[in-house]
Amino acid sequence: MRPVNRGDKPTDSNGDPVDFKEYGGARDDLIKRIGDYCSYCEAPLLAPAVEHIQPKSKEPAVEKTWSNFLLACTYCNSIKGERTVDAGNLNDFFWADTDNTFRAFIYEKDRAPQIDTSLNPLKQQVAHNTLELTGLDREPAHPRLTGKDRRWIKRKEAWGKAETAKANLEQQSTELMRNQIIDTATSTGFWSVWMTVFQDYTDMRHRLIDAFQGTCTACFDQDTQPVQRADGKI
Ligand SMILES: [Zn+2]
Repeated sequence: MRPVNRGDKPTDSNGDPVDFKEYGGARDDLIKRIGDYCSYCEAPLLAPAVEHIQPKSKEPAVEKTWSNFLLACTYCNSIKGERTVDAGNLNDFFWADTDNTFRAFIYEKDRAPQIDTSLNPLKQQVAHNTLELTGLDREPAHPRLTGKDRRWIKRKEAWGKAETAKANLEQQSTELMRNQIIDTATSTGFWSVWMTVFQDYTDMRHRLIDAFQGTCTACFDQDTQPVQRADGKI
């Protein structure tokens, strides 16, 4: 899961913080800050929707609060909507805007994101909660996978494209090829898949971190290895 920087509340032409009259008014600012990808499954979004970390039904006080916003696809949003997230259990989950969520999961070919078993038991539990919250653990063997939920298919397709791209780079290690691969990656989405397939290619990982809008650059060291996020749980 890509860690992102939402940044401070946007300001108007006078430099004053914008007051969103409707939460939907934050949509374009969110796209500018964190790119039009689902904050959970990382799919590219055709119709980005403002996602409330704490749902407005549970915590109406933060319905229009900038720090409560992410972007989500309809699958992640609706599965998450079945569960309670409020001020009382917020820390039971990892969040892309405050944690280094790339440290929580391992991506493998043809598999749902896996919990990193090198984490301590408490963090593994939080990672488990996070997968379950958004149904990111749903793959063909999962009893609750529905036919409409195509996230695993799109993730699999992204993996295939990333592998092809890596093979092409090995054949032709040029600047042109690198640029073309980054173009393909940003249009295909699933940043974590690309980061994993290119795990031995530090230059490409730097480019992926820079090219996907709003990726938390401070979440990675100079060799693109993920590091503890300041003030984050991971
Ligand atoms: Zn999603």
